[in-house]
Amino acid sequence: MKSIMQEERRCYICGSPYWTELHHVYYGKNRKNSDKHGFTCWLCEAHHRGTYGVHGREGKFIDEKLKRECQAKYELTHSREEFMKIIGKNYL
Ligand SMILES: [Zn+2]
Ligand SMILES: [Zn+2]
Repeated sequence: MKSIMQEERRCYICGSPYWTELHHVYYGKNRKNSDKHGFTCWLCEAHHRGTYGVHGREGKFIDEKLKRECQAKYELTHSREEFMKIIGKNYL
């Protein structure tokens, strides 16, 4: 399913259209669930795998921001119970 977070293939954080990579907002054991429900977004290489990127050493705040904003977006059209059933955790 396509991303519920954005229409265009641009970095969700900085808007760059270059070197974008698909990020699963809830990764690890929830990677498949993220694919299924469109809990994905595009990130430039730096915001994805750089030191300050979502998977980087200093990227924890971006990780948390994406998890919160994705849940909020989902809950515009679904209940919190539905979200919790899929991901198993509340980020808001
Ligand atoms: Zn970026
Ligand atoms: Zn990623």
